[in-house]
Amino acid sequence: MPLATQPGSKSTGTDVIVVGAGPSGLATAIQLARSGMSVCVFERQPGIPDRPCGDAHTGASRRALSALGVLDGLMAAGSMSPGYSVCLDGAHPVEFHPGLEGNCLLVPRPILSRALVDAAVSAGVEIHSGRGVTGLVRGPGGEVSGVRVRIGGGELVRSARLTVLAVGAGLCTSAWLGAATVRLGWAARCILDGPHDVRLLEFHLHPDFLPGYLWVFPLAPGRVNIGVGFPNGTGGPRLLRRAMDDWLAPYVRRRFPGVRAALRSGAIGIEPPPCQWPPGILLVGDAAGVADPFTGEGISMALETGMLVAQRVAQHGLSKGALTAMSESIPSLMRERYRQRRRVAASFSRLASIPGLVRFSLCAARLSPAGLHVINRLMTQR
Ligand SMILES: Cc1cc2nc3c(=O)[nH]c(=O)nc-3n(C[C@H](O)[C@H](O)[C@H](O)COP(=O)(O)OP(=O)(O)OC[C@H]3O[C@@H](n4cnc5c(N)ncnc54)[C@H](O)[C@@H]3O)c2cc1C
Repeated sequence: MPLATQPGSKSTGTDVIVVGAGPSGLATAIQLARSGMSVCVFERQPGIPDRPCGDAHTGASRRALSALGVLDGLMAAGSMSPGYSVCLDGAHPVEFHPGLEGNCLLVPRPILSRALVDAAVSAGVEIHSGRGVTGLVRGPGGEVSGVRVRIGGGELVRSARLTVLAVGAGLCTSAWLGAATVRLGWAARCILDGPHDVRLLEFHLHPDFLPGYLWVFPLAPGRVNIGVGFPNGTGGPRLLRRAMDDWLAPYVRRRFPGVRAALRSGAIGIEPPPCQWPPGILLVGDAAGVADPFTGEGISMALETGMLVAQRVAQHGLSKGALTAMSESIPSLMRERYRQRRRVAASFSRLASIPGLVRFSLCAARLSPAGLHVINRLMTQR
C-alpha cells in the first residue's frame, strides 16, 4: 500500500505503527493484527531484514515462536544442538548436555525473519521495507501521534493512535525520547562456509577478555557461525574491536585456514532507556533494553515483550486514557518480569570476570555432576 500523506496535510491513520521489522516488531505486529487492529510496519532495510546474530534460540525463544505459530517451520529449517561445551584458554573443554529445554535451536536470521514476515503478512499487517523512520510526530501535550518516514529525497507523515518502537539497540530511542544514552552490549560474528568438525555449541574463554566469550555454532554440515561478544558492555566497542583483531581473527585463521568471511558487529539492548514513555508510544525488544547482559540472548525477550505489548493493547484498547495508562504501567511490568534474571546475569558476569574462579568452576564441573548442574543452570538461566 502506498504511503499516504505529505507533511502538514491530514494523514490517513492506522491503529498501530510499528517501527522496525526485527523479532520484537514483527511479534507485536502479528499479535495485534490477529486481534483485529490495523497495523503498519516500517523497516529501513529493503527486503527481508537481516542483522548480525549468533542464530541460537533457547527454550524460551522456541516457546514464543510456537505461540506465534511459526516454530514448526523453523524446526524443519534449522537444527537442534545436542549440547554445548565451554573451554578456557584452549584447555580441554567441559561438555554439557542439558536436555531439550536447555539446548538451542539454530536458525539463520534471514530464515527467522522470512517466517515472521510471512506470518505478519498472513495476519494482514502492511509492511513497508526500505522505509526508514526519521522521527516521531508529537501532539501539543507531548503525546506521540505518528511518525515521519523517509521516502526518496523527502519525508511523509503517517499517523496512528499507537506507535511501537522496535528499532533495536542504538541511538534512535534515546534521540527520539530525549533519554540519556545507555550502556549497550556488543558482539560481532561471521558465517563461514566449508567443512567443519563442530558438533556442539562451543564457548571459548580467554583470560584477557572475560567475561566476554567467543562462540562457534554449527549452523549446518558445511556452515558455522563464529563470533565474539561482550554482552554486559564492558569496554564498549573498543574492546570488541581488540577482541576481533587479537582473538577472533587469529582463531578463525588457525581453525579454518583459507576460509574468508566478513565480520559484522552489532549492539545489544541490555538497559531500559532512563526516561518516561510519552502517551502513544510503547517500546519492545532491544529498544526497551531487555536482552540478557550475561549471555547476550535477546530474541526470546524481543518476542515476549512484543507479545506482552500486543496482549495489553488488545485488552485495554487505544483510547487516550488506555494509552496513557499503558505507557506508565508496561515499563514496570517489563522490569518486573526480567528483574530476577538481570540480577543473576549481573552477578554471574562479575564472577565470570575472575580467571581463577572460572578455571576452578570448570574443574569442579568436570569432576562433579553437581558442579555441572550449577553451571548449566546459570548458562541456561533456569
Ligand atoms: C553479533 C550478535 C549475536 C547475537 N546472537 C544472539 C543469539 O544467538 N541469540 C539471541 O537470542 N540473541 C542474540 N543476539 C541479540 C539479538 O540479536 C537481539 O536481542 C534481537 O535481535 C533484538 O530484536 P529486536 O527486534 O528488538 O531488534 P533488531 O533485531 O535489532 O531489529 C530492529 C529492526 O529495526 C530496524 N530499524 C532500526 N531503526 C529503524 C528506523 N529508524 N526506521 C525503520 N526501521 C528501523 C532495523 O533495521 C532492524 O531490522 C545477538 C546480537 C548480536 C549483535
